[in-house]
Amino acid sequence: CGIVGYIGSQDAKEILVKGLEKLEYRGYDSSGIAILNESGLHLYKEKGRIAALREVIDSEQGARMGIGHTRWATHGKPSKRNAHPHQSHNGRFTVVHNGVIENYQELKENSLAHIPFSSDTDTEVIVQKLEQLVESGLSVEEAFRQLLLAIKGSYAVAVLDSQDTETIYVGKNKSPLLIGLGSDFHVIASDAMAMLQLTNQFVELLDEEMVILRQHAKTIKNLDGETIQRRPFQVKLDA
Ligand code: GLU
Repeated sequence: CGIVGYIGSQDAKEILVKGLEKLEYRGYDSSGIAILNESGLHLYKEKGRIAALREVIDSEQGARMGIGHTRWATHGKPSKRNAHPHQSHNGRFTVVHNGVIENYQELKENSLAHIPFSSDTDTEVIVQKLEQLVESGLSVEEAFRQLLLAIKGSYAVAVLDSQDTETIYVGKNKSPLLIGLGSDFHVIASDAMAMLQLTNQFVELLDEEMVILRQHAKTIKNLDGETIQRRPFQVKLDA
């Protein structure tokens, strides 16, 4: 399983699907991508092989940002319904997630009791909770920080806001996640391998960190909201 993301000036779709193919070795039962452009968010997911995902992707839609996922089901059976990305009930937020949200049941039964869920995953609480926090009046960045403080467990997570074609929100705890740097783009990946065709410069994320990722900027913060400076490293390939 793994996650990928891209924000830049090229067509995101092909980059995301190729990235997911590079993560195939990690194992998966379903896959999906979400891309965001001026006409809105476009979601494609399928059970089984990534070749099956390729078949449902609409070649008419182009976007310069998006997120992708290969799923290894932990909560909810392998199916199209449970494949990521998942969306909040009004459709504003879209998430891909690797890991396990240990307190998802508690969140679902307490603060999200009245919210209609459309999957059986632990993951869906991430976007439902985020939407609730934003509706309570917080900025998306502050809501995302509070969300990460509210969820317990492991996550490599990337979120799109359909009202913002400039930003990907990224979080990490106990699941691997890297930010890849390019001249006019940023990528995210569970494994550098997924994006080596685009860049060999990566920045590592540590546990309980979040990133506000844009085409030409990235801000890494801890969950106290403090900005963190970190040098990139170069991935060297053996010939
Ligand atoms: N726990 C999540 C699910 O079952 C994510 C699984 C994964 O890491 O792929 O959907």
